[in-house]
Amino acid sequence: MIIPERYARQALVSEIGEAGQQAIRQSRVVIIGLGALGSNIANILARAGVGSLCLVDRDFVDWTNLQRQGLYEEEDAANSLPKAVAAKNRLARINSEVDYEVIVDDVNSGNVEKIISGATVVLDGLDNFYTRALINEACVKMRIPWIYGGCIATYGSTATFVPGITPCFNCLFPGVSGHTSPFTCDTVGVLGPIAFMVAAWEASEALKILVGKKDQVSRGLTFIELWHNSVTIAPVERLQGCPVCEKQEFNLLNRSGDLMTTSLCGRKAVQVVPAGSTKINFELTLETLSKIFQVEHNAYLLRFRCGEYGIVLFRDGRAIVFGTEDPQVARSLYGRYIGG
Ligand SMILES: [Zn+2]
Repeated sequence: MIIPERYARQALVSEIGEAGQQAIRQSRVVIIGLGALGSNIANILARAGVGSLCLVDRDFVDWTNLQRQGLYEEEDAANSLPKAVAAKNRLARINSEVDYEVIVDDVNSGNVEKIISGATVVLDGLDNFYTRALINEACVKMRIPWIYGGCIATYGSTATFVPGITPCFNCLFPGVSGHTSPFTCDTVGVLGPIAFMVAAWEASEALKILVGKKDQVSRGLTFIELWHNSVTIAPVERLQGCPVCEKQEFNLLNRSGDLMTTSLCGRKAVQVVPAGSTKINFELTLETLSKIFQVEHNAYLLRFRCGEYGIVLFRDGRAIVFGTEDPQVARSLYGRYIGG
């Protein structure tokens, strides 16, 4: 195989080489969450020439995203395009050789294994610990490397997990799945450059894995603070008796049908996911709601205001209720206007 000119500078790097470039070309990369981290990771890895890139996100582009989410443009926010769709549209213009797969959905115990199946590496661009803990279980079970990342205010952190080589995410943050933090990008903000910095670190770790140099990944929790100038790497030890990587107990993965609501990071909003295989009739719902409310819609979602609340309903039945952080209020509005 001849290395195309567009990858020449990358293949010249001795750590990559021509064989490494070919391995990158044959890889399948899954990015879960396409916000500050995921959009910038996707940009780097599409340019690097991965074979297939699976883009997963449940949310849509809004104006507050444009400051740090490097793939999106004003028109995406104006049209409320799902992030996965907007990302794919942009990436296809950046590198048309990559096979893109778009998934506009919530990642949960019912679909995570299918989504990451066949992945060379999974990258975290998420905003919550529950889904990260779920991905950790799925990746340990399926022996797929994954890279955690997070950023807020002026700092961020990241760690790489390779089953069989490194400890796992649960070793680092035991039992963190029910954890929520009062610090969100809505309460303390987020500096644009920290998103790019953590994304670049995650993408670099991914490239090591893609070229088969798993033993060269960072073995610690990297903490980057941009405003006060520090980068530290704290060692991560294997947790004695870790239920996930040692005992292979996958409690989150084995739960089903109970994930009804989740608060969305950085927005006074709650996502409502219909239980199990519940399906809605999107067209009928649109028609019905249009009689009561002023409803805006596109091919992927509809949105309307109900008093102090804003409601966005996706075609797959998921909804995001804005203006509340109370799951009961969100469930009640969903039940009242959408059903399920
Ligand atoms: Zn572990």
